[in-house]
Amino acid sequence: MSADLVRLSAATLSQALARGDVSSVEVTRAHLDRIAAVDGDVHAYLHVSDEQALATAAGVDKARAAGEDLHPLAGVPIAVKDVVVTRGLPTTAGSKILEGWVPPYDATLVSRLKAAGLPILGKTNMDEFAMGSSTEHSAYGNTHNPWDLTRIPGGSGGGSAAAVGAYEAPLAIGTDTGGSIRQPAAVTGTVGVKPTYGSVSRYGLIALASSLDQAGPVTRTVLDAALLHELIGGHDPLDSTSLTDPVPDLVGAARLGAAGDLSGVRIGVVRELGGEGYQPGVLARFTESLELLQAAGAEVVEVSCPHFDYALAAYYLILPAEASSNLAKFDGMRFGLRVEPSEGPVTAERVMAATRGAGFGDEVKRRIILGTYALSAGYYDAYYGSAQKVRTLIQRDFAAAFAQVDVLVSPTAPTTAFRLGEKLDDPLAMYLNDVATIPVNLAGVPGISVPSGLSDDGLPVGFQVIAPARADDRLYRIGAALEAALEERWGGPLLEQAPELETNR
Ligand code: GLN
Repeated sequence: MSADLVRLSAATLSQALARGDVSSVEVTRAHLDRIAAVDGDVHAYLHVSDEQALATAAGVDKARAAGEDLHPLAGVPIAVKDVVVTRGLPTTAGSKILEGWVPPYDATLVSRLKAAGLPILGKTNMDEFAMGSSTEHSAYGNTHNPWDLTRIPGGSGGGSAAAVGAYEAPLAIGTDTGGSIRQPAAVTGTVGVKPTYGSVSRYGLIALASSLDQAGPVTRTVLDAALLHELIGGHDPLDSTSLTDPVPDLVGAARLGAAGDLSGVRIGVVRELGGEGYQPGVLARFTESLELLQAAGAEVVEVSCPHFDYALAAYYLILPAEASSNLAKFDGMRFGLRVEPSEGPVTAERVMAATRGAGFGDEVKRRIILGTYALSAGYYDAYYGSAQKVRTLIQRDFAAAFAQVDVLVSPTAPTTAFRLGEKLDDPLAMYLNDVATIPVNLAGVPGISVPSGLSDDGLPVGFQVIAPARADDRLYRIGAALEAALEERWGGPLLEQAPELETNR
């Protein structure tokens, strides 16, 4: 029984819990057992919070027995990326500089998870401060792709995607600044959503680039993502960029999509997000998925977004600029690590230098240097200023495209999961993993990655759907329609084709 419980979707667990077929303590314990059995190999978690999770589960079971009105996801456990602050649970953002830090407060989205009664299983591994596409920049070791343990699980949120893909959690929270929810979802055969900028509170996310960061769901099904997104979304007075709009009916949209009729829907294929640089197997799965959407009644046209070709370059000026400013607070005085110089006077400046020298990894230092340079007097207009202009042109490309079509589509990532170590010494090759996801963050619009099959190497491929800002419901309608059509073809979820992990080693 316990082995089967971890294979169920959150929606199915929610129904089983509501009927009383199973308790939250049983469901939570099954996931903790699964973590104990496989996480030695996968290393999705940095911290497992057994006691707190079981206490939450027991509380939900008691409330249910007392006939209290509960949230549909009450009692369904969840994993949280370690860049999200959790009161009483260590939060490191994958960095040595925050080792041992236990936040005194919860992020708004964590408060919402807790208020709804979702047991938090633990905190998941990630690239340091969410900089990376493979989780190899974590200061705490690699996470392994459940499809092939010698390969990367994507990044920066490889821990959340691997946890969900390895049945170590039915739901997880990720954050996406340039692709860190969607690209890991693509390479692990899971579902990941980057919501409209401002629609999920950033209060309590350790900031990477404040104008790009968004938290969102990582799940095994489109419906589960909709359930989680509705829970964490919506206005938050603690986040000054939080939208005041109500969350659209995402669950309704997912159900509508699963019914399979897309007549009247116009889908635009972005010409610039495909072709050269994309693995042939990735393109083949993309074309097949398009055919299925067409068969469901959607009209497919090609659209051009010419400035997307400059998105990566603009992102790697804007992101380091914002990151260098956001990371200035890690100075050895306020949070986590403090290193005193080994010799000479102990001045504030020298403590700061020693702490940052020892606490930050190479990728973080690289970006702080780039960002500081791009913002410096005399270079600001040439670099940061130009990048912001390109950002506006990209937003205009989206606006022009959405005047013609309801959603845009592309492969989520240009390749399947590469081998651990393969791109570690080549930052530019690492950055290219996000060519198709970064334009979405630069424009603040929402995007989803849905599994679209296996490439020739037997590894999962993701299909990206992009919608206009505030129209996140379209992601769920199209995503669920594609998922339903593909699962009919495969005879079940793609993850069922993943090799079994060895347990209890
Ligand atoms: N891989 C991208 C980067 O390294 C995206 C990171 C993210 O979305 N957090 O910046």
